[in-house]
Amino acid sequence: MNERHLSERLIRVANYVPKGAKVADIGSDHAYLPCYLCLDDPECTAIAGEVNEGPFQSAKKQVEKSGLAERIDVRKGNGLEVLAPNEVDTVTIAGMGGSLISTILDEGRDKLEGVKTLILQPNVSAHIIRRWLRENGWLLIAEEILEEDNKIYEILIANRGDDTYLYEEHTEQKILLGPYLIKEANSAFHRKWQEELKNWKRVLAQFENANANEQVEQKRRELLNQISMVEEVLVQ
Ligand code: SAM
Repeated sequence: MNERHLSERLIRVANYVPKGAKVADIGSDHAYLPCYLCLDDPECTAIAGEVNEGPFQSAKKQVEKSGLAERIDVRKGNGLEVLAPNEVDTVTIAGMGGSLISTILDEGRDKLEGVKTLILQPNVSAHIIRRWLRENGWLLIAEEILEEDNKIYEILIANRGDDTYLYEEHTEQKILLGPYLIKEANSAFHRKWQEELKNWKRVLAQFENANANEQVEQKRRELLNQISMVEEVLVQ
């Protein structure tokens, strides 16, 4: 991978960035995504945010090497703290867990002023992001799921808006699996959830031998509920 040849996962993220966008890529590592976006679109400008020194230095080097230092500002800091309100209209956060992405969004809520589009690519726990979006006035407008190098990734795109219609029925099932992904139900989706089912059933079997207590019983009920939500979709 380099700034001109991204992984399929990051190309899919890039495809959702509007032309002429002012983008913040948070957790930017080598700054491949902002470099790719700016090389592809002369109107695009970007901020690459990184909390760790090593990746921050890699991002700076990459931006300079690509001759994009005038259009990409590499900033060191935690999450959205590198931004001023109204500085960007699009935020991308890719390659982290859903829990960390949600924490970054939540802790930086005031920095999202002026942001119209969120493009989020969790490696795991996308449902935590869907829930955060719901609770914070963001409307999920598209989702993708793909397999690359034997790993499965999800991409969630959101604009500001009311999502009542999207989650009217089967709310918890849609938060877990993704309202658009359920409808498309492609091969990556099937593979991901077949694997999750297998893991959950293995844990359930272990519970059979565990000493019964309220905690185990609650976890067991949660797993049974998740299994039934997923099986309902997979058999359709
Ligand atoms: N976004 C790139 C991608 O998708 O290929 C890099 C993903 S890499 C696995 C995650 C990056 O996020 C690391 O470089 C890490 O240092 C950075 N990171 C983790 N937590 C962060 C935070 N709270 N704020 C900014 N960067 C963070």
